[in-house]
Amino acid sequence: MLYLIKNADVYAPSHLGMRDLLIAQGKIVAIDKKIDLPASLATTIDAAGKKVTPGLIDQHIHITGAGGKDGFLSMTPEIKAQELIACGTTTAVGLLGTDGTARNIRALYGKVCALRQEGLSAYMYSGYYGSDTVTITESIQSDMVFVAPVLGFKIAISDIRSSYPTAIELVRKLREVRVGGLLSNKKGIMHVHLGDLPTQMDVLFELVQQYQFPIAHISPTHVGRSKSLFDQAIAFAKLGGSIDITTGASKYTDPYLSVLYALDQGAPLAKMTFSTDGHAGLTKTDAQGNAIGFKKAPINENLLQIQQLIRQGGLPAELALQLVTTGPAANLGITNKGHIAVGVDADLCWFDQDWNLCDVFANGEPVMREQKILLQPAFD
Ligand SMILES: [Zn+2]
Repeated sequence: MLYLIKNADVYAPSHLGMRDLLIAQGKIVAIDKKIDLPASLATTIDAAGKKVTPGLIDQHIHITGAGGKDGFLSMTPEIKAQELIACGTTTAVGLLGTDGTARNIRALYGKVCALRQEGLSAYMYSGYYGSDTVTITESIQSDMVFVAPVLGFKIAISDIRSSYPTAIELVRKLREVRVGGLLSNKKGIMHVHLGDLPTQMDVLFELVQQYQFPIAHISPTHVGRSKSLFDQAIAFAKLGGSIDITTGASKYTDPYLSVLYALDQGAPLAKMTFSTDGHAGLTKTDAQGNAIGFKKAPINENLLQIQQLIRQGGLPAELALQLVTTGPAANLGITNKGHIAVGVDADLCWFDQDWNLCDVFANGEPVMREQKILLQPAFD
């Protein structure tokens, strides 16, 4: 389909101002102050009064569910495409968590393909918490080469549920993701779950400083879990590392406040990202902090925290949006995502003047209009 979007106030995420956008075959093919085409050639949609941004990227979300740390009943459910669309997420990167036993990496691959079939963009990491990395093929390296949606692998450190990997063990896995990425023209990252042990990110600094491993391939997440961990993460970002702040779980303060604090401390905005950890398994507690059951991490917190950054934090929208657009796209190495430019995928969010999400386009097709989801569920 050919769509001509008129009168959009475009945040690419840099603020371009009023533009018309032409979309064909899922891509943005023209951006100009004024584009006119005969009505018979393209469906024209008026975006007057709307701010148009790239679709949001969630680089850590449990699309097949996670949890299970309180037994089988605590395994969280799958995420539906319609739920992602409702919070503006047009690109999801799925992964396993603690559970690489009852949860299956090949089922995760199937879910990635299903989301793609529904018109969204989806990727994944191989692996889970353990250093006995679960893969689709025989290794991290061959997953990188032969499985198109695999962007890297995941592992946990500084967590009682991790394998307590040493620097040399991590370097050997990093080599696989790096060489696999070179062979398949992917960037290749090691996505690192940080737990709450006092060893924090020490081993990651060792990788960079002692082993001289390029920092761009190391992607720590849950860095906002505690104040002292976050301070260490800010030092990592100043070295050029990308740090991922979880919005839906594992946070000592509101994530948008963490970003303002990090900026104040001199951390580069381009090295900070948000991800939701959506459908991570969490423990539900009463007012006294006693466990009373379980719950799943929300999937809409990236959107809510960006809105908070703009509304309460006073950060200009073109900067706040980077955390869920250009930031994760650069970390993941997906150059066709995260910005609005000629030739990139037409993933778009439309907001009203108060930054409420109204419309979503995924790969050039409208999937939400005026807060109504257009994509039909695969099953009723
Ligand atoms: Zn997680």
